[in-house]
Amino acid sequence: MTNNSALPPPGLETQLLHADQPNHEQDPTHPIAPSMSLSTTFRQPFPDSDLAKNADASLETPERPLMHVYSRYTQETNVRTEQVLSSLLGGYALTYGSGLSASLAVVSAVNPSVIALRRGYFGVHEVFKIYSRNRDVSFIDLDDEYPEIEGKLDSSSGLRQGGLLVWVETPLNPTGEARDLEYYTKRAHAKKGYIGVDSTFAPPPLQNPFNQGVDFVMHSATKYLGGHSDVLAGVTVTRDHQVFKSMWHDRCVYGNVLGSMESYLLLRSLRTVTLRVRRQSETAAKLVKWLHSLTKGQQAPEGTPASITDGRAIHRVYHSSLQPLTKADTELDQNPFTKIENRAFDPSQQMPGGHSPTFAIWLVKPDWGKYLPHYTLYFTPATSLGGVESLMEQRILSTPDEKPNLVRISTGLEDFDDLRSDIAQALLRTLEKHP
Ligand SMILES: *Cc1c(COP(=O)(O)O)cnc(C)c1O
Repeated sequence: MTNNSALPPPGLETQLLHADQPNHEQDPTHPIAPSMSLSTTFRQPFPDSDLAKNADASLETPERPLMHVYSRYTQETNVRTEQVLSSLLGGYALTYGSGLSASLAVVSAVNPSVIALRRGYFGVHEVFKIYSRNRDVSFIDLDDEYPEIEGKLDSSSGLRQGGLLVWVETPLNPTGEARDLEYYTKRAHAKKGYIGVDSTFAPPPLQNPFNQGVDFVMHSATKYLGGHSDVLAGVTVTRDHQVFKSMWHDRCVYGNVLGSMESYLLLRSLRTVTLRVRRQSETAAKLVKWLHSLTKGQQAPEGTPASITDGRAIHRVYHSSLQPLTKADTELDQNPFTKIENRAFDPSQQMPGGHSPTFAIWLVKPDWGKYLPHYTLYFTPATSLGGVESLMEQRILSTPDEKPNLVRISTGLEDFDDLRSDIAQALLRTLEKHP
């Protein structure tokens, strides 16, 4: 984007539309939507030209390449997508073929000998297991005492290798509960560790983990950033240019790049991400409030069929907006069903833009978890989340160690009243058919 010093720095929504804007002085009639080329290779400049002489300098700023050589290194659509992501996420963004490959990129950059993590997306645990094959890596719980490991300085990235990586997923899959990033960042840094955050469930404007001082942010862009259930992609973000360059170099070698088509789709989606996510978050908050009113001891709205009120259908609703805020509340909250997060804090500080549009409900009977997603009209029984269409999944189908009662809900862009009526009729039908 060309700077115009007459204007104040652009806001988030303006950045999403203009962070990759072509320079109209160089390209006076550029297309408004980006062009997309599928070419893997590019003509080399004449040997005596300025461009050929500057080719090596181009490697210093892969976020703004002077030219393209081969699409495993850079290509135009992908560079533009990363420029917009960098602007949105507040650091240097790199894209990958999926969210899981993005988490592999972080663990490969840090090369830890100790990884602290608990719960969250099972696939990331699998990635860390693959990383630890034939390596001496120990896994500890997020709340265990962290060891202090100096590690060995890697001159290309500037990162200390062989130390501690604290991996925090927040909000948490599948329940949408939040974890205290400031707390874990302090603990990780006190022991010379790095902290990486899987922020998939709450992209900006909901939260930005760099505000809590974390080292790496990762997203499955397949979810909210892509937002239309049609692109598989992942993103890593760092605020350190040297780390970014080193991770870019690694990606050039493993070739885990996002193709032109996927980059195009992701870029197109990013133009509207804040609008979508804000609306999805607002609708989810209303659904959570209403569903919580159906649990035991709560007052359901006038006219709600009695058979689905007072905990007869829904035992519990999980979401960061319902999380216990104090230690005393946490101790009172004896939840025999799932391991809940035990560190009480107020997630609204960390999520100033709103809570995650994805949350979970615990149905009274295990069988109900199986049927409810199939009796809805506007929620589709399917895995994944973050798209414009609402989805509902009995989570055990994807994560065998969840209990059958747990159903994850991804709120789309449909009207709140329709979504609420749909869940109400589906609950009634479930209770009626499977008493
Ligand atoms: C989906 C998801 C991933 C994995 O992303 P893919 O794009 O499917 O590889 C990682 N973390 C969380 C929290 C997710 O929801």
